[in-house]
Amino acid sequence: MRILLMGPPGAGKGTQAEQLTEILNIPHISTGDMFRKAIKEQTELGKKAKAYMDKGELVPDEVTVGIVEDRIKEDDCADGFLLDGFPRTVNQADALGKMLGNLGIKLDSVINVEVPFEELIGRLAGRRICKSCGATYHMIFNPPEVEGVCDKCGGELYQRDDDTEETAKNRLEVYEKQTAPLLEYYENTGLLVSVNGNQSMEQVLKDILKVLGK
Ligand code: ADP
Ligand code: ADP
Ligand code: ZN
Repeated sequence: MRILLMGPPGAGKGTQAEQLTEILNIPHISTGDMFRKAIKEQTELGKKAKAYMDKGELVPDEVTVGIVEDRIKEDDCADGFLLDGFPRTVNQADALGKMLGNLGIKLDSVINVEVPFEELIGRLAGRRICKSCGATYHMIFNPPEVEGVCDKCGGELYQRDDDTEETAKNRLEVYEKQTAPLLEYYENTGLLVSVNGNQSMEQVLKDILKVLGK
């Protein structure tokens, strides 16, 4: 299956993607994760992306489209993939359409995880990530068993640099301006289905699987 997961920052895309990719046995392609890895490894890509990410702005389309194109051509994507956090602009969506067309493949589903705006800042500010395996936690809504330690791998949890309240606010504004218009874009393709993301993580997962016919 080829799935696109959409929704504002903090909607729960990464959380759902962790489960979905395991259940469906497809790779998880998160542009945010790819950029964070590049920053950690201090690559050229990481240097380019960091300045934008720190401000809560989007990394330029030409950079972002290139890394996705390289990734979906890899062998493990041949039978499907889940895109999380890409596309985020109409330009990126057009580029994705072209890429898929050239490969002779189509998206099966576009899922929009809906969460009321006022919930999002609290979700972002309380988010914690495992340094080793990337698992996502929340200090209140999904705390680890031992504070600061990943349940899955024992790794250390950290707060993303861009999850401070001020940067998070800017990311939500950027979402409204640049990414929200994509909902209409995919509505027009007939592929878009919205799921209520303001429920327990388990229920959101069930609802998404239902949409996918699983
Ligand atoms: P996104 O990838 O869309 O930015 P995440 O999956 O990282 O979102 O989730 C943002 C934060 O909200 C994380 O701390 C996560 O643990 C928490 N979260 C995710 N889904 C839910 C939910 N259904 N209810 C409450 N908190 C959630
Ligand atoms: P969130 O889970 O909170 O939505 P992501 O991890 O997806 O955040 O993205 C973090 C940051 O990485 C974004 O604020 C942006 O700077 C950059 N980024 C990720 N995906 C894209 C994209 N498709 N286009 C441009 N910038 C991106
Ligand atoms: Zn871990």
